[in-house]
Amino acid sequence: MIPARHQDRHRESWREELAEAITDPAELLGALGLDPALLTPALAAAARFRLRVPQAFVRRMRYGDARDPLLRQVLPVGEELLDAEGYSGDPLGEAAANPAPGLLHKYHGRALLVTTGACAVNCRYCFRREFRYDAQVSTGGRWRAALEAISADPTIEEVILSGGDPLSLSNERLGSLSGSLASIPHVRRLRVHTRTPVVLPARVDEGFAHWLAHLPWPAAVVVHVNHAQEIDAPVADAFARMRATGVTLLNQSVLLAGVNDDEGVLAALSTALFDAGVLPYYLHMLDRVRGASHFEVAEARAQGLLRGLAARLPGYLVPRLVREEAGAAGKTLIPLSTPPETCKL
Ligand SMILES: *Cc1c(COP(=O)(O)O)cnc(C)c1O
Ligand code: SF4
Repeated sequence: MIPARHQDRHRESWREELAEAITDPAELLGALGLDPALLTPALAAAARFRLRVPQAFVRRMRYGDARDPLLRQVLPVGEELLDAEGYSGDPLGEAAANPAPGLLHKYHGRALLVTTGACAVNCRYCFRREFRYDAQVSTGGRWRAALEAISADPTIEEVILSGGDPLSLSNERLGSLSGSLASIPHVRRLRVHTRTPVVLPARVDEGFAHWLAHLPWPAAVVVHVNHAQEIDAPVADAFARMRATGVTLLNQSVLLAGVNDDEGVLAALSTALFDAGVLPYYLHMLDRVRGASHFEVAEARAQGLLRGLAARLPGYLVPRLVREEAGAAGKTLIPLSTPPETCKL
């Protein structure tokens, strides 16, 4: 008989791919044929927030192009070490919104469960780059206190599995989590926020599709794609496998200077998402986290880009431009145009 541990490893072959993710800046620069002069700043920035990128994502980058929009999202650079005014370690004040360790309950009806601190990729602009997961993920990863808090609050209709990335968990752990949630009668929707299907499409395996297909509630999977070049054939297949289970697929992006702050790039992203069965949901303004100021796009420019999108695409392909603000009742919607100044007489 095969020991259970080995069976798991066989069943979850994506784990091997995850273990082979590139974490050494020299290896990434070498794989893409880039200037070795990029190494010194990369090492300095990686010491603050580690490089991590699966090979499957690296394969979609253009060889020899230091300005590749996918590379820019993951390569540590010297600009991260600059201090910028207004950029901090906890830009959303999340340290204050926890009814239980691992649970963020900021918005009515929805509670966000920090299932794990792990991600398949480290995005340089991530607002959690300085988040102290050890304090947030319930001890032993068992989420007991978080589940009790959900159970005790009948206004919570929707549970959002987030992180980190919930797809860093095994299918078995996901199954036990959804099993516990199923015994809470007021929960009626489940949402999964994940970037893993994009950076490691092999993670959408049979077991995960089975889990999605058998959830006792209607569910939405919100993926995270910032540029059309991220959707290659394996990613489109992974999206199709999820869609086949009947879940709703949505996308959220972050507006990032040098990655997607261009009307044509955003339009191509929306249409590529739709082709792959995903609807654009949110386009987030950057969270002002220390080390990410070089990704900032000014609000007036963002509004101009969205006006351009709205003029060339159907309404359902125009994402909502939002900013997250500490203490707000929901994401703050940024209007496409600033209302004319009122008379101050
Ligand atoms: C973004 C977010 C949600 C979900 O917000 P929606 O507008 O419903 O997508 C819920 N809780 C927290 C803490 C969030 O940051
Ligand atoms: S996948 Fe999401 S949570 Fe993980 S590093 Fe990227 S932006 Fe942050």
